[in-house]
Amino acid sequence: MIIDTHCHLDFKDFDGDRDEVIGRAASKGVEKIINVASSVEGARRAVELAAKYDMIYASVGVHPHDARAVTDKVISDFKALAKNRKIVAVGEVGLDYYKNLSPREEQVSAFKRFIRLARDLNLPLIIHSREAEREALDILAKENKNGVGAVMHCFAGDGDFLKKCLDTGLYISFTCSLTFKNAKNLREVAKIMPIERLMLETDAPFLAPQEYRGKRNEPAYLTYLVDEWSKISGLSKEDIARITTHNANSFFRLKLDEGSKIAYQIRDSLYLNITNRCTNKCDFCVRNQTSFVKGHNLKLDREPAIDEIIEAVGDPRRYKEIVFCGYGEPTARLDLLKAVAKTLKAKGARIRIVTNGHGDLINKRPIAKELIGLVDRVSVSLNAETESKYNEICKPEFGPETYKKILDFIRECGRNKIETEVTCLTLPQVDVKRCEAIARSLGAHFRLRLYGMVG
Ligand code: SF4
Repeated sequence: MIIDTHCHLDFKDFDGDRDEVIGRAASKGVEKIINVASSVEGARRAVELAAKYDMIYASVGVHPHDARAVTDKVISDFKALAKNRKIVAVGEVGLDYYKNLSPREEQVSAFKRFIRLARDLNLPLIIHSREAEREALDILAKENKNGVGAVMHCFAGDGDFLKKCLDTGLYISFTCSLTFKNAKNLREVAKIMPIERLMLETDAPFLAPQEYRGKRNEPAYLTYLVDEWSKISGLSKEDIARITTHNANSFFRLKLDEGSKIAYQIRDSLYLNITNRCTNKCDFCVRNQTSFVKGHNLKLDREPAIDEIIEAVGDPRRYKEIVFCGYGEPTARLDLLKAVAKTLKAKGARIRIVTNGHGDLINKRPIAKELIGLVDRVSVSLNAETESKYNEICKPEFGPETYKKILDFIRECGRNKIETEVTCLTLPQVDVKRCEAIARSLGAHFRLRLYGMVG
């Protein structure tokens, strides 16, 4: 599924073939659409569309071009309209100092009123900002302190503006302008975009992708944007679709079912989430913020049985590797891990485990030998060059002796000819050079992982 988070199907451009356009979107996997209002009348039409089509949601708002039309009555009418459960946002609202079709002071006043409206309704904001980047963020910072979520629609700024938006907590939505031949700079900026805050939009009928440049855009063309993001990020099209769908689902609170996963694919590897138990409480753990990794819900209702895991994998030869790595420490279920690995190896799989290295302590015996022939590669998260730093950052439940036991486990894996790598996050307080030296001294490879990049 893909979600077009911003388009204007209520515009007269679609009067002749609206049903066909919506049908084409669905046939291309664009299963949900947020029809964004840009005028008072547009908001009413958006609500009508949302009532008619199950897959369409709507917003209420007035584009800054028409800021002078925003009166007390408009605001109270929108409040009444927003009682409809398919109104999921306030927008598009903001500032447009490029065309200046409404006086700037009226744009600012309307923008502030809509921020208050969004806060009153507890709905997220869809922001339009053109040549008014600093002002829009300043107003948002003042008027929406600890307030509702917001997305910067149709992002076309530079890297500095992107960082400022992200620091303000905004989601960022890109259009098919990213596919334009002359959008080289924007594609460069997109490379630093954290995928966890990305949403996709067509802004149809505007900004058709390169293949249809100059023609009317429509939600079905969102697939071109998915292709472009796949190229930029190195993730698969399925990854982009799933991650951005999750982002939109959580931002607009669409309540789409995103059940938890035992087996989840990222790129061409399949990951197994066999437990949520862990013997660390790392400061940096992604679990402190979310149950999702790359759009997969990893919060298990219960620990899966062997048969369920094998069934969830299917044919393991479809993947580059099968990785025991979920929302917990896989060696906490060592017997199950070994049984699953044995079955999958017999089917031709390459097996890796990602571990905190506590396996010997958890199982009260050295476990490296037990992995021989079952596990091809072990990735151990070290993340500290000293025991005291490890204890401070990772808070292991086994206490001070943990760090030494992790080093023993790494050494033993190497001795038993299991390919072993030590990983370390780019945490500011960690001396990664010393971590690398420790890894090498134990006969392991070393891999630095970017802090904040999960999966
Ligand atoms: S070892 Fe991994 S799963 Fe466990 S708390 Fe640390 S980061 Fe989270």
